[in-house]
Amino acid sequence: MAVGIRPETRLAVDAHPEVERGIVVSDRMVTSDPDILAVGECTEHQGQLFGLVAPLYDQA
Ligand SMILES: Cc1cc2nc3c(=O)[nH]c(=O)nc-3n(C[C@H](O)[C@H](O)[C@H](O)COP(=O)(O)OP(=O)(O)OC[C@H]3O[C@@H](n4cnc5c(N)ncnc54)[C@H](O)[C@@H]3O)c2cc1C
Repeated sequence: MAVGIRPETRLAVDAHPEVERGIVVSDRMVTSDPDILAVGECTEHQGQLFGLVAPLYDQA
């Protein structure tokens, strides 16, 4: 993802999972709320954001 561009995370902020630059997810795409999973460009995994489609298929 280009420097300075951040995903749209307001929905997650309102739902209260941990949000840094993206919605923070575990190796199994679980957010800090164990009832909420997230995939896609909105996520942040081990400090990394995702700006292409291929890694999102891997997440799914
Ligand atoms: C111009 C451009 C060119 C690109 N070219 C490539 C390319 O060639 N190859 C490649 O691999 N990737 C490319 N990408 C990146 C690729 O488009 C994204 O990685 C991918 O679309 C992310 O998919 P996503 O489902 O995570 O998010 P998105 O496709 O962004 O889908 C998120 C959806 O959630 C909706 N949404 C957001 N907030 C809310 C809310 N509060 N309530 C309800 N809905 C909401 C949005 O309207 C949107 O429809 C490009 C991106 C852009 C902008």
